[in-house]
Amino acid sequence: MRDASASNKLAAKTRLVALVVLLCFIAITLFAEAFIITHADHNCHGDACSTCIQILNAESLLEQFGKVAGFLLIVGISLFIAIIVPFLPDLPEVYTTSLVSKKVRMDN
Ligand SMILES: [Zn+2]
Repeated sequence: MRDASASNKLAAKTRLVALVVLLCFIAITLFAEAFIITHADHNCHGDACSTCIQILNAESLLEQFGKVAGFLLIVGISLFIAIIVPFLPDLPEVYTTSLVSKKVRMDN
């Protein structure tokens, strides 16, 4: 009983950490988008404009998050398929056999 309780506590902590990471991911994305939107029309000071530099940093961050999200989506779909496919029912015999595999001889 003690092991099951410790395992449940570890699973709960893991879920909590995953939730916090997800919330941070969402918050950073929203704040970066909000910064870009609110500062898109600013008084620009030229090449050394700190607002433009921060906008570029925010865009770079969002691009990196997009790549990570795409990667995680691909990994998630792959894992989903890998987990689901073994539990799918077998295909009907029509799709898995051929005349050659049944050794049908066609003499005509
Ligand atoms: Zn600027």
